[in-house]
Formats: sequence, C-alpha cells, structure tokens
Amino acid sequence: MSNTDYLRPRSIAEVSQCLASFPEAQLLAGGQSLLAAWRLGLCKPTHFVDLQDVPDLNDIRSEDGALWIGAMCTHAQIAASPLIVSQIPMLRVLAQGIADAQIRNVGTIGGALANNDPAACWPAGVLAMDASIVTNHRVIPADAFFEGLFSTALQNGEWILGVRFPRVAWAHYLKFEQAASRFALVGVAVARSTRGQVRVSITGLGQGVTRWTDAETALTSQWGVHALNELAFDAEAAQTDVHASGFYRAHLVSVLTRRAVAIDTGEPSLMPPTRTPVLREAPTPSQGRLRGSSLLQASPDRVWQQLLDPAVLQRCIPGCAAMTLTQPEHYQALIKVGLGPISATFTTQIALFTEPPQASQSPMRCRLVLTGEAGALGEGKATVFVQLDTVHDPQTKHINTRLNWQATPELTGKIAQLGNRLMDATALNLSQQFFNRFSGVLSGDTTPPNQKFSLYALTTNVKQWFLRFFER
Ligand SMILES: Cc1cc2nc3c(=O)[nH]c(=O)nc-3n(C[C@H](O)[C@H](O)[C@H](O)COP(=O)(O)OP(=O)(O)OC[C@H]3O[C@@H](n4cnc5c(N)ncnc54)[C@H](O)[C@@H]3O)c2cc1C
Repeated sequence: MSNTDYLRPRSIAEVSQCLASFPEAQLLAGGQSLLAAWRLGLCKPTHFVDLQDVPDLNDIRSEDGALWIGAMCTHAQIAASPLIVSQIPMLRVLAQGIADAQIRNVGTIGGALANNDPAACWPAGVLAMDASIVTNHRVIPADAFFEGLFSTALQNGEWILGVRFPRVAWAHYLKFEQAASRFALVGVAVARSTRGQVRVSITGLGQGVTRWTDAETALTSQWGVHALNELAFDAEAAQTDVHASGFYRAHLVSVLTRRAVAIDTGEPSLMPPTRTPVLREAPTPSQGRLRGSSLLQASPDRVWQQLLDPAVLQRCIPGCAAMTLTQPEHYQALIKVGLGPISATFTTQIALFTEPPQASQSPMRCRLVLTGEAGALGEGKATVFVQLDTVHDPQTKHINTRLNWQATPELTGKIAQLGNRLMDATALNLSQQFFNRFSGVLSGDTTPPNQKFSLYALTTNVKQWFLRFFER
C-alpha cells in the first residue's frame, strides 16, 4: 500500500482547492470502490480528499420542477426519501436494489456515477431519465457524461456536486442481478417524458451504460409491449464472461424492457416466439482477441503517413504524456490509463514493423509490438496488426481508407486481477477514442485533445526522417 495523506475539507471551495493543489489526489466518498482498489495496490493517490464534512452535498430537494440529489447522498438515504417516492419512484426501486444494506448505507450516488462501473445501476437510471450531472465547473447532460467503461467526461480537478433529474411521466428500472454482488447482469431503465419521448438505457453489457435507440423509437411512436415485438437486441453488443454469454445478456435486455413497459401498460410481457437475439459469428482463436475497423475520409497514402507520424500518435493515443524515439522504429511512450478508482502510468516501448506492399494495389500493413510496465501494478504486452484497404466512394469519387486492426493484449501482475473482460473492454474503448481523434486529425482538426500531457514534439529532423523512411 502506498503512503497516502488524508484531507478533510469543509467546503466545496476547499475541495476544489485540494484537487488543484494535488493533481494525484482522489476524492473519497463512501470508499466502497476506492478503498478496495487502493488496498489491492491498483491506485496510488497522494491524498484522499474525504467529502463527508462538506455541507450541501447531502440534499434531496425539489428545484425548478426538477429533483436535486446531492453527490454524497447514500443509496439508503435516496431509497428512504419521501420526496423521491412521491416524485420519481423509479429511483427508489433502483437505490433499494443496490448491493446489501451495509453498502447501501455508505455508497453514494456521486461515487457510483464517477466510477461508472459497467454493471452499476445508477448510470442506467441517470441516462434513461436524461438527467444532468452538476460539477464544480459545469452542467453535463447524461448523454455526454458516460464515455464508456469506468470512464466519464469529468476532467482533472472536476468533481460532482449533485444530479438534477427532470420530471418524467413514468419510469421504471429492472435488473437481473448477479447473486453474489447484486450488480446487474443486465439492468434496464425505461423513462417516458411528459411529451411522450421514451429513453431506454442498459447496464451490464460490459462496455458501460448504453441506450437502446431502436426500442426508444418504437416505444415513442407506439407506447406498449407490442411495439417491441419486431425488435431483438444485437448479441454482439453484449460481453460474454463467466457469468453469462453475450447471447443470454441480449435476451435479458429484451425480456426486461418488455417487463418494464408491461408494468405501466398491464399487457402480457412474454417474448413473441420468433424473437431471439441476433448472434453473429464469434472470432476464431487464430484471430486477434480484439478487432476493430474504421472508415477514414482520406486516402491510404495519407492515412499511412499520419499513422506513422509520432507527433500524431502522441496526439491521438489517449493519455499519452510523452513519446520519444529511442532508436529507428522504436519509441518510448508514457501512457496514463485511468479506470474509475484505478490509475496506472505505463512506460511503454513500441516497436514498429512495416510490411512493404507486394503490388501497387495491395493493402498496406504494419505490426506494432507494445510492451508496457506500470511499476508494482504489473506489465502489459500487445501485438497489434494494422491493415489499410482502399475504399472508392462512388458518389463523391473520393478514395477513402478502411483501417482494420486486431490485437491480443496480455497483462501480468496486479493489474491482471482486473480480468480479461475489463481489460478487453478498456482496450476497445481506448481504441475507439484513438480512432475518433485520428479521424479528427485527418479532417484537419487542430484542437488539442482533452488530456494532460506535455506538448512535447519530436524535432523536425526526426519527423522528416520518419516521413522519408515510410514514404512509398
Ligand atoms: C459488493 C458490492 C456490490 C455492489 N453492488 C452494486 C449494485 O448492485 N448496483 C450498483 O449500482 N452499485 C453497486 N455497488 C457500487 C456501490 O454501491 C458504490 O456506489 C460504488 O462502489 C461507489 O462507492 P462510493 O460511493 O463509496 O465511492 P468511492 O469508492 O469513495 O469512490 C469511487 C470513485 O468515485 C470518485 N468520487 C467519489 N465521489 C465523487 C464525486 N462527488 N465527484 C467525483 N468523483 C467522485 C472517487 O475518487 C473514486 O474514484 C456495489 C459495490 C460493492 C462493493
């Protein structure tokens, strides 16, 4: 366990001041996730900033037609609030179904949202209700807050003061829980606004909370279980792990959504006999465990050139604080990965192997071997294969690029305790962020990415050398 100091501020301003003074400090709410991660050595904050003495974070009140819940309200306090029961009873159902009484009396809504566990209940409730997360800097709509597994839009020094829930006509939350923890194997929240707009959000699928937009459209145009008869949730969007297959999880999504709606309409909720979840072919073991593909609006030559530019890589790799060339084709990068209460800085060696195209029309390929060390937390390794295929757009006549990649990451040490499910989902999430930023760079976006890193740039000579070396 690391040496971590303990701070106990007494006002909202003091909390913000602590976070500004100690960038590696972590807020301590009920400690239900944070202390476990700390004891396992999965995070090493310099300070705990305990929120329990900060006034105004425990309020539940009506506010301009909305309902305000302070960040430090515990699940038990929310479940017992008469205001919640009278205004949004769904929140009571959700809060009283969380874990066991001990955890409900200590765990908080703010901690649960900041943590954004992929099987937690609050993210689903907040997203379906179209609630807003109020921080010390701004108001973040739920759609923009949850960025994927254990990731949120909170920036350095930013923290949650509370959540504002709008009034809705009707809402309900149902989960099929894991027997041991009561976390959601799958949880579904359905909310219908006063104007009849329906939102359906799902937790437990493995990648973080998400919306089921097909169901939302169907239920908005026709409110009733029958509106869902032609829909099946895509099993590929659901994770397979020791608890359940993606196929089973997808089936639960449909079942729980139907049951939730049936509570309001009184219809029978049984699945129609023909409706089974869509299941696509699983990857064969010889393929990388993780795969992805992105269509990029630029020619393969341009994509290739940008992809091999270390300054571009540094800009696009999430959390990349520095990248240096150690020898031809070898870089060293400092990459900070944060996962809820867990944070690790990897010193990563990257070796690049390019494969010259066999013929003028054949795809461009390269292989990256990454080896990362996160001190006492452990090590990670991955081989990533990248291939660029030419795509002709018949309408615009432009030549675009389909970038396909596959990788098999391996972790050892403490960080491996996170398990493959978490690791794979994190890798997929980071890849998605990478390609979003990369697409931005290709389309000329010069906004600096939202991350803390030294604006280190490779010297012009090295950059030129790179461009020349990989020139076709
Ligand atoms: C065995 C077990 C079963 C559980 N089952 C369920 C379940 O069924 N459903 C469910 O939804 N949840 C479940 N949980 C989660 C639990 O209810 C807590 O909500 C969650 O662990 C967060 O705990 P906490 O509020 O004590 O926050 P902490 O552990 O203190 O903090 C968690 C993270 O949030 C950050 N943080 C805390 N407060 C803020 C804030 N105001 N602003 C910004 N960042 C903040 C911390 O720095 C830390 O990174 C379970 C937890 C356990 C241990």
